[in-house]
Amino acid sequence: MTVNNEQAEHTPVRTKPWVPTFLSSEEFSEVEKQYVMKVIDNKHVFRYSGKKDSEAAQLEKLYRDRLNIKHCLAVNAGTSALISALIGAGIGPGDEVIVPAYTYIASASAVLIARAVPVIVECDDSLTLDPNAIEAAITPYTKAILPVHMKGIPCQMDEIMAIARKHNLIVIEDVAQANGGSYKGKQLGSIGDAGCFSFQQYKLITSGEGGMVATNNDTIYARACVYHDSAYGFWGINEFENVTLFPGENYRMSEINAALGLAQSERIDTVVAKLRNNKSKIVAGIKDIPQIQLQRVPDPEGDVSYSLNFFLKDAETAEKFASLLVREGIPCGTINNNGFADRHIYKNWTYIMEKRGASEQDTPWNCQSYKGNVQYSVDMCPNTLDWLSRAISISLHQSMSEEDCQDAINAIQKAASFLD
Ligand SMILES: *Cc1c(COP(=O)(O)O)cnc(C)c1O
Repeated sequence: MTVNNEQAEHTPVRTKPWVPTFLSSEEFSEVEKQYVMKVIDNKHVFRYSGKKDSEAAQLEKLYRDRLNIKHCLAVNAGTSALISALIGAGIGPGDEVIVPAYTYIASASAVLIARAVPVIVECDDSLTLDPNAIEAAITPYTKAILPVHMKGIPCQMDEIMAIARKHNLIVIEDVAQANGGSYKGKQLGSIGDAGCFSFQQYKLITSGEGGMVATNNDTIYARACVYHDSAYGFWGINEFENVTLFPGENYRMSEINAALGLAQSERIDTVVAKLRNNKSKIVAGIKDIPQIQLQRVPDPEGDVSYSLNFFLKDAETAEKFASLLVREGIPCGTINNNGFADRHIYKNWTYIMEKRGASEQDTPWNCQSYKGNVQYSVDMCPNTLDWLSRAISISLHQSMSEEDCQDAINAIQKAASFLD
């Protein structure tokens, strides 16, 4: 009998399903139920009326303590946190804000909702903002830099902060994907002028939907408070008598969401410790494979460690490698081509590429206050597209066993052995 194809003979490294999609909701337990039920039992879901020690206030305290920061404001989403922080920092019409070419579209659209203009800048082999590309993007209108700690990887904050100081720019960290991460011993979100968290289900911890603004700056905090609630001046809670009131939205967090977020946030360090342990085992097992180049992690000790990313020599090899890994039972794709128009890559941000607003009349780009001339095109950040097209991303999970980690190592080694 002759063996007629490779497929028939192939035994995949893994046949069990890969790790769960969500980190956050996999941890739901009696604690979450208890905290949420307490709110239901107390019949009080609004944080501001007749409640001193609201769930939202407790969640804010937890983050103030974690981050060792003066102010935290709970809001209803990560996007709302970014908008509140931007408006809190006085960013608005006529201003430009530097954003990375690889981030969730909300980082850039938050800038637009604040009526400012996003300037899209290259990422490097850390898949975060390339500090060497920032200065060329600075114009007389630049007001802020918005570094994003993508996939739990801390940005190069020393370099970014040095550039910001030199040019007198505000730094707003987008920590949506890196809750629990740190950089050189400092918690992410506490390094720039403000840090913005998301508690959406895809993130490390969830409150259902939710977010947090963290800052040491009284003015940013006071203005963010005012913007997050159109009646902020009327609840008798305004700590800053001298802050001028202005119209806001409703980005308040409900007590149910806050209670869920509190139960989840209490175990951030436990979850991150497990993730780091798993990732470091896998990294040790694959770091010497000659065909792959591991993502550069600016501070490996601060990596939240739920994603394993590495590069192949070119896009074609990366696609081949991804399909080899899939065949071994590890679901993955290249970041640039994972079967859909990934909303984390600037070239797919259609409404930004086309400078569209809700109204044609008055967008941040065509309004009178804007004197700059930012340009966008799908090929404007070739380095970012090159890194992403060569990048394989594998999601990790706190529930991974020794065997799961070994499967990842074996599958990557085996896939590499089929190259060349
Ligand atoms: C999820 C995310 C946001 C937005 O958070 P929401 O809670 O969904 O509004 C912003 N930035 C990044 C990088 C994200 O991943």
